[in-house]
Amino acid sequence: MKKNYCIIGTGVAAVHAAKAIRDLDPDGHIAVYGAEQGLPYNRIKLSKDLFADLHSEKVLIKKGKWYDKQGIQVFPNTRIERIDIEQHTLVTAAGERLDYDKLLICTGAKNCKLTINGADKQGVFSIRERHEADAFKAYIEDKLHVAIVGGGIQGLETAWSLAKAGKKVTVIEAAPRLMARQLDERVSSRLKETIEAWGAQVYVQASIQQIVGEESVTGIMVNNEVIPCDSVAYAIGVIPNLDLVLDIAIETNRGIVVNDQMETSGTDIYAAGDVTEWRSIVDGLWDCAMEQGKIAGHNMASTEARDYQRVIPLTVFNAFDLPMFTMGVVDESQCDMTMIEEDETGKYTRLFIKNNQIVGVISLESVVAAQPYKAAIDSQASVEGLALHQLTIQEVMRAIKDRECTTVK
Ligand SMILES: Cc1cc2nc3c(=O)[nH]c(=O)nc-3n(C[C@H](O)[C@H](O)[C@H](O)COP(=O)(O)OP(=O)(O)OC[C@H]3O[C@@H](n4cnc5c(N)ncnc54)[C@H](O)[C@@H]3O)c2cc1C
Repeated sequence: MKKNYCIIGTGVAAVHAAKAIRDLDPDGHIAVYGAEQGLPYNRIKLSKDLFADLHSEKVLIKKGKWYDKQGIQVFPNTRIERIDIEQHTLVTAAGERLDYDKLLICTGAKNCKLTINGADKQGVFSIRERHEADAFKAYIEDKLHVAIVGGGIQGLETAWSLAKAGKKVTVIEAAPRLMARQLDERVSSRLKETIEAWGAQVYVQASIQQIVGEESVTGIMVNNEVIPCDSVAYAIGVIPNLDLVLDIAIETNRGIVVNDQMETSGTDIYAAGDVTEWRSIVDGLWDCAMEQGKIAGHNMASTEARDYQRVIPLTVFNAFDLPMFTMGVVDESQCDMTMIEEDETGKYTRLFIKNNQIVGVISLESVVAAQPYKAAIDSQASVEGLALHQLTIQEVMRAIKDRECTTVK
């Protein structure tokens, strides 16, 4: 009998899960239900490329033909309201009941809410879904000044999109520095200087008190001073979207708890992507969601289980003409030592080393330079025996490569 696979959510985890299922089960019925309009798209573009046509085919993860060819049915605009785990049934917002043999929950994450006074005024936005980006762009079309609350990657990429579109931008961050999770102090302050050189104002360690205006935004109060602005867009973190599972018997903590096979505690129910918590980790990153989707899909259709191996977190930043990437563990306090190199052209690289292994890197280079570092982190290459204090980073990377070649021979 044909198996009935249901997937909730139309993000990247869902698409890759559906493909993995189809690769193993040519006959099964695969249905993907999503609350948003249209086919699954590249969510990252909502900040990286805000002013592009977000409804063009270029933004799709896969084109319509691909789903037809794969025999994967996508039902956009179809919110699942309830999971009946006893009956193996889903209930849509329109009241339709849908049976499943295997279910995958990929409902992603929700943006954390800004809770200060005035956050409900017209002109305040937080972008997670495409319709929110559409509404934001329409609102600011005839306006000039946007305040961005949140100096993480999403906020800064939005700031860059706005700056390129000729808007006046103010970035406001509560932490002492920008992108504090991904960057060290040196690169954070380089980034701040670069953004300021583009004409944007940047506040760090800011106390954000309220959004002011009658019905709509006219300013934001920071450090007891009102900064006039026409709109506020905030990106202050995400939380797994647990709405569907809160009142059913599926184990949750910060996210839906999954094992290495992406199984939840519910029979025949898997989860993947931003909604999950795996080994106490909630990643909230594109590459991790994609890989978890692949593993979940494989295990839904196969009797030979595959385990999820954590994808090394990689952040790629291209805004304000300051390309950079950061990867792995970049917290000095968790490492035994770091190696730093900076030259007069502004090139900067920092390696993070723990237990004689490279565990992370921050580099002010384009992501094309990331490959050797990725390979070294993935393979847990050893730097034992290398005179790290006398070598350059390039020499260390070469020595690692030479060792690998010798081992392979
Ligand atoms: C603006 C922006 C920029 C980003 N930039 C980066 C970046 O640079 N690098 C990076 O690694 N990551 C980035 N991310 C995060 C990345 O997009 C996510 O990690 C990834 O999209 C997660 O994929 P997912 O499939 O788990 O869930 P999502 O992409 O969140 O998709 C979940 C889908 O499920 C739908 N859904 C929820 N509940 C229901 C329901 N009850 N019924 C039906 N459908 C439902 C939602 O509407 C949504 O369409 C960014 C995110 C945003 C918003």
